[in-house]
Amino acid sequence: MATQTMMYKKSNNSKRMAQLKSVSNQGKEFAMETEGLYVYYGKKEAIKNISLSFPKNGVTALIGPSGCGKSTYLRSLNRMNDEIENCRIEGSIIYKGVDINSPMANVFEVRKQIGMVFQRPNPFAKSIYRNVAYGPAHHGIKNKSKLDEIVEDSLRKAALWDEVKDKLHQSALALSGGQQQRLCIARALAMNPDVLLLDEPASALDPVSTGKIEELIGELKKDYSIIIVTHNMQQAARISDNTAFFYMGEVVEYGETEQIFTNPYNEQTENYISGNFG
Ligand code: ADP
Ligand code: MG
Repeated sequence: MATQTMMYKKSNNSKRMAQLKSVSNQGKEFAMETEGLYVYYGKKEAIKNISLSFPKNGVTALIGPSGCGKSTYLRSLNRMNDEIENCRIEGSIIYKGVDINSPMANVFEVRKQIGMVFQRPNPFAKSIYRNVAYGPAHHGIKNKSKLDEIVEDSLRKAALWDEVKDKLHQSALALSGGQQQRLCIARALAMNPDVLLLDEPASALDPVSTGKIEELIGELKKDYSIIIVTHNMQQAARISDNTAFFYMGEVVEYGETEQIFTNPYNEQTENYISGNFG
């Protein structure tokens, strides 16, 4: 609790904020949570004391100006920061009752259950089929008809099947940007994850593809818990249940999206969502 109090100490209305957090959390199950999370690159503190709980089968949007630590935070949620030299983490990240950074946690299992899709679509230079089958095949599924089933199922969930079913063995690189991004989502889904981390998944896409991704997120939340970084305020308002506003490495406000966008408690949040800075 001490960390939560600290988290909100900058707010003019900290009591109301703390109350809101407990109200909005009432009766909800959480997919994962962080408690007092700090991330450093060498001596530089990139994020400070972040405590957030992500509702199961909900969409949580992370918003805030560039450089405020959204990607750093998101990457820490499935140990992608392990790949960055000099990067150090303090605090806890609890998934299914275990801290994902504890020796008890297996990094491959963590990344299998907590899948990630990046800003730029990054399909492998392989066929559409092999992009999706790659993960499951590496995790030991060798049976061809089982792989076929996973590929079809994942592409259907990613709303891409109808567009690619007749060209599964063509190169993924020949797809449009929007299709490539849905392929990357299918590739993450093929691992049968529980949580999906999306870092600005539509920022490089045209409005039609962006619309498809947003629609898809609405469908996916039935089966997955989704945490999405976006710079598009309308998008955050349309697709998310909860929103966290990041500013200079801290979360200054977290609550239900409707409240954040209609009646933010924090002045910085209000300025940001109304386009006055950032
Ligand atoms: P955002 O996603 O909100 O734009 P980032 O998480 O990318 O913010 O960056 C937060 C801060 O951490 C920035 O000051 C950025 O320069 C720094 N940073 C991000 N990645 C690295 C890295 N690999 N090495 C050193 N500093 C980094
Ligand atoms: Mg980023």
